[in-house]
Amino acid sequence: MQLPREVVVGKETIESIAEISKRLGFTKSALLIAGSKTYEVAGKTVKEILEKEGMKIQTFLTEKALAKDVEAVEEKIVKLKPEIVFGVGGGTKIDVAKCSSSRQGIPFISIPTTASHDGIASPLSSIKGFSKPYSVMAQAPLAIIADTNIIMKAPWRLAINGCGDVISKITAVEDWKLAHKDKGEYYGEYAASLALMSTRLVMENADLIQPNSEEGLRILLEALISCGVAMSIAGSSRPCSGSEHMFSHALDTIRPCCAMHGEQCGLGTIMMSYLHGMDWRKVRDTLKKLGAPINATELGVTKEDVIKALEIAVSIRPERYTILNKQDLSRESCEKIAKATEVI
Ligand SMILES: [Zn+2]
Repeated sequence: MQLPREVVVGKETIESIAEISKRLGFTKSALLIAGSKTYEVAGKTVKEILEKEGMKIQTFLTEKALAKDVEAVEEKIVKLKPEIVFGVGGGTKIDVAKCSSSRQGIPFISIPTTASHDGIASPLSSIKGFSKPYSVMAQAPLAIIADTNIIMKAPWRLAINGCGDVISKITAVEDWKLAHKDKGEYYGEYAASLALMSTRLVMENADLIQPNSEEGLRILLEALISCGVAMSIAGSSRPCSGSEHMFSHALDTIRPCCAMHGEQCGLGTIMMSYLHGMDWRKVRDTLKKLGAPINATELGVTKEDVIKALEIAVSIRPERYTILNKQDLSRESCEKIAKATEVI
């Protein structure tokens, strides 16, 4: 189990970066990964604070999370030999920092600028060009510093996306239980409970998680971080990624760039909770309350895309046993599932 040692969430927590770095034993050098925008909103501040303390900070700006970006950062790590890597950004920059530092055997600190998915705290990274269309194990962040003043400034759609990712654990855990029952797969009650608690907190506080609510944003951030920790405890993405994630990954291959990960997972969760015989209407109504898309049109995809994604979802990750393995996944049957849940 690899867990973060320091997690700070709240207003102006970025100011504590030097103190945390020192406490963790990093006082000399660091490589900071950010995008051009995230450098402006947070990276620059991190650099200034640490340089004031006498640390040598090199910066690497990247816009995507491609294999070549990771390799370029790895080259920098080899050349500059920093003590630590800082990942400042939403998904992609943290993924690049996490993956490159892990491959080079040095730790990294996560400084999210959005609350868009659980990758801000998980030990998994999603890099295009490294063979798999889903996240693979890298390493957990040594610390997570989530400054709500900074994250509040990000577009609210990103937070809604994060809510979708948290709510999706309700079916991910159910799939995990099913794999345990039907296939004897290892099932970790503690990790599963932690993921489910995050879902429960976000669902129960849907009224509070609304634009301009710092309190709501903090609940979401803590839920996302707990999901990341659940994956660290489980040693895999199992507690946080099941059939609903496979649907989302399938949609990525059919129609990339239309919707965001958490939005797609949310839609997947409506359909998969229906298949599990759970209260899918509650899932749908909560997503609606949060402002998340609940059907194909709102997601910006076609009915045909949804049907096709259901049909091919299993093939995305054949080794991951889920409720989809128990379904007739003919075109007609997939259409029925999507229609029954009013997704199409
Ligand atoms: Zn996810």
